Amino acid sequence: MGERAIVWLRRDLRLHDHRPLAEATRRYPSVAAAFVFDTRILDRLQDRDDRRVTFFHRSLAELDRGLRRHGSRLVALHGDPTLELPRLAERWGASAVFAGRDPDPYAVERDAEVARRLSGFGCELRLVKDHVVLEAPEVTAPDGGAYRVFTPFLKAWLARVRPEDTEEQTPDLTRLAPAASLEGLGLEDWSLERLGFEEAPLPIEAGEQAALRAFERFLDRIDRYGELRDFPASDGVSGLSPHFRFGTLSIRLAAREAMARGSEGARKWLTELVWREFYQAILWRFPHVVNSSFRPEYDALVWPGGDEEFHAWTEGRTGYPIVDAAMRCLRQTGSMHNRLRMVAASFLTKDLLVHWRRGEAWFARWLLDYELASNNGGWQWAASTGCDAQPYFRIFNPVLQSRKFDPQGAFLRRWCPELAGFSDERIHAPWEASPLEQELAGCRIGSDYPAPVVEHQTQKARAVALLSSVASRGS
Ligand SMILES: Cc1cc2nc3c(=O)[nH]c(=O)nc-3n(C[C@H](O)[C@H](O)[C@H](O)COP(=O)(O)OP(=O)(O)OC[C@H]3O[C@@H](n4cnc5c(N)ncnc54)[C@H](O)[C@@H]3O)c2cc1C
Repeated sequence: MGERAIVWLRRDLRLHDHRPLAEATRRYPSVAAAFVFDTRILDRLQDRDDRRVTFFHRSLAELDRGLRRHGSRLVALHGDPTLELPRLAERWGASAVFAGRDPDPYAVERDAEVARRLSGFGCELRLVKDHVVLEAPEVTAPDGGAYRVFTPFLKAWLARVRPEDTEEQTPDLTRLAPAASLEGLGLEDWSLERLGFEEAPLPIEAGEQAALRAFERFLDRIDRYGELRDFPASDGVSGLSPHFRFGTLSIRLAAREAMARGSEGARKWLTELVWREFYQAILWRFPHVVNSSFRPEYDALVWPGGDEEFHAWTEGRTGYPIVDAAMRCLRQTGSMHNRLRMVAASFLTKDLLVHWRRGEAWFARWLLDYELASNNGGWQWAASTGCDAQPYFRIFNPVLQSRKFDPQGAFLRRWCPELAGFSDERIHAPWEASPLEQELAGCRIGSDYPAPVVEHQTQKARAVALLSSVASRGS
């Protein structure tokens, strides 16, 4: 065993509770941290001011400052990681590269190629669990296969989790490679501009210190999570998903604290963390979901909704305030509350009858917390094509959802200010307002705000007919 190892950072942009870094520094006296700005991913992004790039760039800048405080520095590379990473390992004389395991099929293929190239000069790629508390093979059904339904997965997860699964993994930062030994190995200038991107405004602060502070603040309200989590205008949810996505917050720390807390709200929140692990496990076990329906019989379905419906949805002008407010919020902030994701996804697929893949791709473009496994899982759930999906005949009524979860219309007024003059009762279905009410509210439906592009009950019947034709074939 040589003296040097590299930690290849990917979805773990932090120094606290970091298993790849902890394992590398336990075994090797000199450990370098490297990050590759992956051109195979970055070149495909549509927006030069993509928020995700700003988020991880700022997080990396903070991480680099942390490494420098310990006498080291980040080695930043730009290009194809299957070439860049092995080149770095060979030049620096590393015996091993440590990284967190990632079930995304792109990552699996990339890592296999990196491992192959490293082995050419006797270097080993060591993938370790870090992004989840329990990986798919650790939560198996009694027949040894995969769970396809969430509740039994949750029960098995809770029965299987051990204190060591959430134990803090503390890196020994005294073993970081001295900055001088890393001189000239990476980019000197890795500014956003140099990488071909622009700064974007973020809805939350990036970086691990901000993540830890946000988590502390959430712990003050976690006990009320169960009551408040469905109300988009309240501060009920944690808002931590981008931190889990980029690993600026340790999932072990989050799960450990939630389990220690033990309140009703904390238990409910832990269940949501397990939803995340469920979809990661689905992706691991059923990678076909990336390109097709979990239930393949749904791939034959021809969704009648076209560009007109899709653009009304993306631009927030469907005439259904809850959907429009959610979609405008997504465009302007990069985030959307979970309840609204469910409503907006249901509306696109079951009211507008547009293929869920188009919605999935739209969310993938705009969500700051975009995560293949959860986004794909959420969309297939909403479209009824997924594992443990919403039954096809249970279709959200956007007006009832709006009345129930935004009763005073606070969220609607924020994102659809043209509707602000309507009463709390009318604002959820403003087309029902009389001409006089519209005049008094200062908003004419059809000119100041769109009339509904479809009629919910009619579309609901169409969706049930469409989906039932497949469901009956599949049964
Ligand atoms: C159509 C659709 C698309 C989605 N796309 C994504 C996505 O790209 N990335 C993403 O992280 N989540 C996605 N979700 C799940 C969920 O909406 C977000 O995780 C949640 O809104 C994040 O807000 P929060 O951090 O305040 O969550 P909290 O309510 O505080 O929950 C804590 C954490 O649990 C996890 N979580 C919560 N709900 C879910 C869920 N239903 N599925 C998986 N994990 C969950 C997240 O990591 C979240 O940060 C999607 C849901 C739907 C219906």
